[in-house]
Amino acid sequence: MKQALDGERVIVVGAGIIGIACAHYLSKAGFSVAVIDRGTIAGACSHANCGYICPSHVLPLTEPDAIGVALKSLLNRNAPFRVKPSFRPAFWNWMWQFTRRCNHRQMLWAGAHLKAILDSSLVEYRQLISAEKFDCEWKENGLLYVLQSEAGMEKFAKMDRMLTEHFGVTAERVEGNDLPALEPALKSGLAGAFHYKDDVSVRPDLLNVAWTDSLQESGVEFIENCQLLDVVKAHSQITHLETSQGELSADRFIFATGAWSAQLSAMLECRIPIQPGKGYSVTMSRPDPCPRHPILFPEHKVGVSPFEQGYRLGSMMEFVGYDSSIPARRIKQLRQSAEPYLIAPFTETEHQRWYGWRPMTWDSLPIIGRTPRLSNAYLATGHNMLGLSLATATGKLIAEIIQDQPTHIDATAFSPDRF
Ligand SMILES: Cc1cc2nc3c(=O)[nH]c(=O)nc-3n(C[C@H](O)[C@H](O)[C@H](O)COP(=O)(O)OP(=O)(O)OC[C@H]3O[C@@H](n4cnc5c(N)ncnc54)[C@H](O)[C@@H]3O)c2cc1C
Repeated sequence: MKQALDGERVIVVGAGIIGIACAHYLSKAGFSVAVIDRGTIAGACSHANCGYICPSHVLPLTEPDAIGVALKSLLNRNAPFRVKPSFRPAFWNWMWQFTRRCNHRQMLWAGAHLKAILDSSLVEYRQLISAEKFDCEWKENGLLYVLQSEAGMEKFAKMDRMLTEHFGVTAERVEGNDLPALEPALKSGLAGAFHYKDDVSVRPDLLNVAWTDSLQESGVEFIENCQLLDVVKAHSQITHLETSQGELSADRFIFATGAWSAQLSAMLECRIPIQPGKGYSVTMSRPDPCPRHPILFPEHKVGVSPFEQGYRLGSMMEFVGYDSSIPARRIKQLRQSAEPYLIAPFTETEHQRWYGWRPMTWDSLPIIGRTPRLSNAYLATGHNMLGLSLATATGKLIAEIIQDQPTHIDATAFSPDRF
């Protein structure tokens, strides 16, 4: 990358994984970078997610079945994918736009763009981890999708064939009899699995800490408990931010505010159609036997993340607004969902119950680029269910866009102009 203009200062608003990645690439490009957050560094959705960096997750949420699943959930508050009716017009507009995109053609279109940014992100992560040697439990043993029933196995096989045909993503099929040898923590009698060997996993909180420490050592400033209150503008530019810690000036501003981003629409004079998609996780001490692999159970929609010092179950997608409760029934459900599959599905020593608001866009694609009306304001948000997986390529794109360089992948589908 060419050197940034001497003395150019950038403020990144939001210290989630996306803000951290933006700070990394901007700092590498020679900018002087400060990151502010209303809370603590990576204290929101980037904190206790499942930790998968998963190029196999090419298919967007906007797929043909999604509407039926959402409609059924109106009557079932325990559905893993749940929509709670709301009177807010912004919510219904979002749902309508989402619904319009739940078709095969749109799924493949969004999938192609996700594939490009997922692949780029993994390449960037590999370089980052090899250069920085972050202590974050980086594991390259893939992601297992385990199916309980033969019908589930055949349905998944169909999807795997589609992934191969359209995106070149292929899993190794493992028959039920061979599963215990590959993953001894699984019960016998399961139908089988698909092993996506290129997927990687990390412990997200360790990655956040290691990456932030390294950035601070190289001069990036992090300011916690600093909430953006307003932006002050002149001549189609932001001159400074008004924050809970006073005025902050810079030459350019990146908004990586995750699920809160829609609240900045008026300030930034552009549409930012993001709804919070709430998910939960529960982290415990390691069961015995503990899985060797990160695992997803598609039929029960729950993810398993084994860590060196713990074990996590995570799942759910609730469209319930900015609700911050953690109902005990959801935690119970996470535990129960793992029961059909694992010899020891959970332990009683709980380390943390957690929720996160995923920043959901109605077309399943992130929003990365310059805002249409303000020439020095950029968005890096809307990463849906894949913020960890997409962070590095997002940071790289932001650094390229801010310097008016050609982008390393086609980023037009991610542009804020599309709304
Ligand atoms: C249960 C669950 C499991 C998941 N598993 C995975 C996974 O395995 N792999 C994967 O890739 N993704 C996963 N995700 C999704 C991933 O966690 C998110 O996409 C990602 O964390 C979003 O990152 P972010 O930086 O955009 O948002 P956040 O981490 O939410 O960060 C946004 C930050 O902006 C700050 N902020 C907002 N408004 C302001 C303001 N006005 N002033 C100052 N600061 C502000 C917030 O305080 C927050 O810290 C999972 C999500 C959930 C819920």
